[in-house]
Amino acid sequence: MVQPLDSRQRNRYSRQLMIDSIADSDQRSLLSSRVLVAGAGGLGSSVIQYLAAAGVGTVGIVDDGRVKRSNLQRQVVHTVDDIGEPKVESAARFIDALNPDVTVETHATRITPDTVASLLRRYDVVVDGLDNFATRFLVNDAARLAAVPFVHGAVYELEGQLTVFRPGGPCYRCLLPAAPDEETVPSDEPMGIFPSVPGTIGTLQATEVLKCLLDLGEPLDDELLRYDAADATVVRTPLEPNPDCPLCGSDEIDDMDDIDYDDRYRIED
Ligand SMILES: [Zn+2]
Repeated sequence: MVQPLDSRQRNRYSRQLMIDSIADSDQRSLLSSRVLVAGAGGLGSSVIQYLAAAGVGTVGIVDDGRVKRSNLQRQVVHTVDDIGEPKVESAARFIDALNPDVTVETHATRITPDTVASLLRRYDVVVDGLDNFATRFLVNDAARLAAVPFVHGAVYELEGQLTVFRPGGPCYRCLLPAAPDEETVPSDEPMGIFPSVPGTIGTLQATEVLKCLLDLGEPLDDELLRYDAADATVVRTPLEPNPDCPLCGSDEIDDMDDIDYDDRYRIED
C-alpha cells in the first residue's frame, strides 16, 4: 500500500506540489517509481541530480567505470575525493546526501547482451547516459522488447540531442539501423565535450522522465530535439517509425538472440 506523504515530504516537495497538475497522489507515485540510469557520466550526473531531487523513489545506476580527474569538468555528481572510486558508488553517495527518500540500486557492471534484459526488467523507464553506440543499441533493443520507455540523449563537443523512444513509436534503430563501423566512429577514443552541454541535455532528459512518470504534458516521443550551444539554437525534427526497422518495423528481432552483437549490432541472418 502506498503511504501518504508525511509532513517532511510535504515540505520537501512543496514547490512541485503547488503545480496544478501535480497532486499528492502523483508525488506518491513518483516515490514508488523505478528509473534506471545507464551511465553515471556527464548526462547521467545531470539526470541523477534531478530524479533524486524530485523524489523518484528508486534510482538504479549502471556503470562499470571509475571516476577519473578528466571526468570532473562535466560529471558533476563526482568530486576530487572520488577519483579512483567506482562511479556508481560516488553517484550513490551524492543521492544519499541529497534525498534520503531515494533508494539507490548500484550495478557496477558492464551492460552485456546476457545481462541487459534482466537489468531492465525491474524498471519503469531507462535513461540513456551512454557514451558509445554499442551499448546504446543493446539498451534500445532490450528496452523495446520489454516495452520500457527509453529516454535517449547524446552529446558531442558543443552539440547534443534527445528524444523519447516509447512502445508504439520509433526506436533508436529507426534513426540508425546499425552501429557505424569502427573507422568512422572509433569506440575507444575520447571525444571533446563542452562542460555544460551534457548538463543541458541531461536536465531535459530528467524532465522527460518525470513527465513520463507523472503522465504530464506532451512527451518528446515523435521528434528529435537538437541543441547547438555554439549559436544557442534548438531544432526539432519529426521522427517517424521506420517500416523497415529491424526492431520495431518487422518481426526480424523477437528476442536478444536474434541480434549479432559481435558484428556491429547487425541482425542475425
Ligand atoms: Zn525502430
